[in-house]
Amino acid sequence: MKTLVINTGSSSIKYQLFNMPDGDVLCSGLIEQIGEDQGHIKHKRYTKGIEEVHEEHAPILHHQAGMNKLAALLTDSKHGVLEKTSEIDLVGHRVVHGGEEFANTTILTSEVVKTVEKLSNLAPLHNPPNLIGIRMAQKVFTEAKQIGVFDTAFHQSIPEYAYKYALPEKLYKENGVRVYGFHGTSHRYITKKAAAVLNKPVEETNLISVHLGNGASIAAIKNGKSIDTSLGLTPLPGLVMGTRSGDIDPAIIFYLNEQVGLPINEIKNVLYKESGMKGLTGTNDLRIVEEKAEKGDKQALLALEIYAYRIKKYIGAYMAINGRTDAIVFTAGVGENSPTIRRMSIEGLDQCGIILNHEANLNAKGTALISEDASPIKVYVIPTDEELEIANQAYALAAE
Ligand code: AMP
Repeated sequence: MKTLVINTGSSSIKYQLFNMPDGDVLCSGLIEQIGEDQGHIKHKRYTKGIEEVHEEHAPILHHQAGMNKLAALLTDSKHGVLEKTSEIDLVGHRVVHGGEEFANTTILTSEVVKTVEKLSNLAPLHNPPNLIGIRMAQKVFTEAKQIGVFDTAFHQSIPEYAYKYALPEKLYKENGVRVYGFHGTSHRYITKKAAAVLNKPVEETNLISVHLGNGASIAAIKNGKSIDTSLGLTPLPGLVMGTRSGDIDPAIIFYLNEQVGLPINEIKNVLYKESGMKGLTGTNDLRIVEEKAEKGDKQALLALEIYAYRIKKYIGAYMAINGRTDAIVFTAGVGENSPTIRRMSIEGLDQCGIILNHEANLNAKGTALISEDASPIKVYVIPTDEELEIANQAYALAAE
């Protein structure tokens, strides 16, 4: 089954075409700077393991034009992989917020699309562009089944005592204020992969899944299900991120507003876009922060310490709530590529049953065990693949 995975952002469409159930990638790409003077298209086609890259710079007026361009690329005689768009059986859409309504992958009926629209107030930056992507794809890929895969869905198993904030109950009942969590597609994929490498059934696997990308979150997984996670109502709390603060004293917001005189929009900008590693060091790129720290930049080293300390604190908390933890798994851009952050996040935890194998950590490539054989809790690096998981989910639902 040809399965197209689409992730529509406010000015971009990211896509990947899979042959399912094998999971072979036929092509992938990014259409970005939609609505700007000059758009950018990068399309990759894979034929027998060989990658061919095609790039274009041209204005892309709106998302509909972007989606039409995608359809044209897929069927292009030179760069395409299909004769006609009707060969696509499934379109899997990444949808950021599914609220309490969607604990599972769902066919995007008009009723479902209306509910996703209602949930836009919970994710005003993400759900509206996701909806545009769904509507445009429905127009272009008319014969395909459109399926929504929600970033919050995996965390719907979090128990009430963990997802409720100690706030007036009315705010939960009337306004939906609670922990939802994000990166669920990645944490779900990691859970399945980790169970396979541990050689355990998913439903008996206990993990701490550490997703460290530009956005970052950590999840406690018990018996294959998420029981807590560090992102909340929004993707702001928890770990230190590229540009987001992670956990702060919430009263800092009042202080900044009332005493410093920053308007609420400015504070929002600071917390989402000017904080995290960028706020501490001037860049959100961990590679640059590490390079600076290696050259003796004290502030860069401190930033790495703050970043790793927060991860360690959460690992301790999640070990406590899991009771038994089989493995800690590092994934995403930083988790897959930074031995330094992995080491700093778990060093000194030998007494807690986490013993790093330094050499394995330094040499890790792809899926790798990086703890000592004697370590009661295993530590792994497992590359995440959110697009493949969306394709898997869409295929599984269609095959039901
Ligand atoms: P993602 O959002 O998963 O694409 O991850 C992006 C983050 O991964 C950026 O902060 C990158 O700097 C970081 N990253 C990528 N490669 C490395 C590396 N070799 N060492 C440290 N950080 C890396």
